[in-house]
Amino acid sequence: MTSLTQLGDGVYAWFQPGGESGVSNAGVVVDADGVTVIDTLMVRSQWEPFAAAVEALDLPVKRTILTHAHIDHCGGTKAFPKTAIFGAQQTSDVLDSAMPIDAYKAFMPAFEEEFDDLEELGTRGVTHIVSGPAQLTPRIEVLPATGHTEGDIMVLVPDVDVCFTGDLCFFGVTPLAFQGDPAVWADVLDAVVDLADVLVPGHGPVGGEREVRELQTYLRACVDAQGDVHSIPPGPWDSWLDRERDVINVERAAMLARGDDEIPFSMLEAMGLA
Ligand SMILES: [Zn+2]
Repeated sequence: MTSLTQLGDGVYAWFQPGGESGVSNAGVVVDADGVTVIDTLMVRSQWEPFAAAVEALDLPVKRTILTHAHIDHCGGTKAFPKTAIFGAQQTSDVLDSAMPIDAYKAFMPAFEEEFDDLEELGTRGVTHIVSGPAQLTPRIEVLPATGHTEGDIMVLVPDVDVCFTGDLCFFGVTPLAFQGDPAVWADVLDAVVDLADVLVPGHGPVGGEREVRELQTYLRACVDAQGDVHSIPPGPWDSWLDRERDVINVERAAMLARGDDEIPFSMLEAMGLA
């Protein structure tokens, strides 16, 4: 049974064990005026217990911050129906578009049945675009970035030295860069390690600089592979989940290196679109 993990005074993470595709983390920060929720998980069986735990805090739920547009972070926006929703322009655009539900089913077959419920329920849209770094509440800074997607947002809570990184961090799980830029992403991680000692990733358990450096080394290996997935050397990633993503990450890096910003063929295949 998942529960809120307290990381500091009024700051909690909701860690979903595993962290494979569709299994993400979320966060909660309590300010004087009420609660900010960071990401909303994907399907009802995930966000119902999370929303119940937030409700049990017995405080007004004021804000939702979406770290990026991927459905495993945005699917539960209706679980917090009265919040202002902060997100990047890209997140807003995606939430205002039709859900590619068949692609979700193909890519995340474990949730196939629940996606029908999600399609019927729908999501809420972004109400407030985050276009630059901002002090969102007395406790919370939002920091836009790119790397995993074009519209990543990190959520920093300096008074407890915690940063919710969204999918700029995957710990114990292979990152997925089908819409990202592995080279840029690796460089961004230099800044991430300086933000806070305690990093809540989008997928996997809490971590810090060591885990970020491993992720950075892996992403650089994907770039250096120049399209040859077999040239990724042995490393800490040998124990990570979802290594089938190597192919996608290496293909994406090689495409970007030649100026091609499309979704890799290997990802289209994984989504049943190729
Ligand atoms: Zn993502």
